Amino acid sequence: MQIKEPVKILGVPVHPLTMGEAVSTLEYSIQNGKQAFVVTANAEIIMMCQQDADYKKIVSQDAQLVLPDGAGAVWAGRHLGYKIPERVAGFDLYCQLLERASQKGYKAYFFGGSPGIAEAAKAKSEELYPGVKVVGCRNGYFKEEESQSIIDEINASGADMLFAALGAPKQEKWLVRYRDQLKPKVLMGIGGSFDVFAGKMERAPKWMQDASLEWAFRLYKQPSRFMRMMALPKFVLKVLFSGNKD
Ligand code: UDP
Repeated sequence: MQIKEPVKILGVPVHPLTMGEAVSTLEYSIQNGKQAFVVTANAEIIMMCQQDADYKKIVSQDAQLVLPDGAGAVWAGRHLGYKIPERVAGFDLYCQLLERASQKGYKAYFFGGSPGIAEAAKAKSEELYPGVKVVGCRNGYFKEEESQSIIDEINASGADMLFAALGAPKQEKWLVRYRDQLKPKVLMGIGGSFDVFAGKMERAPKWMQDASLEWAFRLYKQPSRFMRMMALPKFVLKVLFSGNKD
């Protein structure tokens, strides 16, 4: 399947796809046995790429699909003169893929979060998307030497989609490091999405998402994120002063 040419936001390529196009692209990967590693790039991730060359390489060169997650990434792309059809938030894409999985029988593996969280997210997925097959769960706290047994367990589960909720950039670094050994066709980092499904974390109400205020809700709920969220105003300034599209 031909994926639209990426646009560049602060040197990071982003594919300007709609949610529907992103889901179809990933479904095509499953059906055709081609692995797709997808990154949902929000402003924080794009800023991490400015400081971390390894991470920038992972997002720029290793990912098959990089999607505009969050109001900041969409605003930046449009400000730079590109056509970005819509926000494709990681959490929403994860939900859409689970829905598609429940209709088509694709199998998912949930890797990440504190002990018990992936299992709680599985229970919530089964409630929201009846028939969905979550074929394995594993918490995200492990020693590096345990990675091989985690990979073996994921592969033995027969999963088509691997959702890794280890936080950025850890989840992308782990997925890229082991992608050649991993059998699932869709590899995707989803940050705190299991926490939302498990009820440990709330997502911003729809009106706040629509008003591009999801960041304010997260800050209100998790004031400890203040330092991390300083990346957002820095991102806006950097885009405003970048002067060119690269
Ligand atoms: N996490 C994990 N292993 C780790 C570090 C974090 O499984 O070594 C989980 C953590 O429990 C949480 C998620 O990763 O569920 C990170 O969520 P966050 O909202 O911080 O994601 P981000 O905003 O970084 O994408």
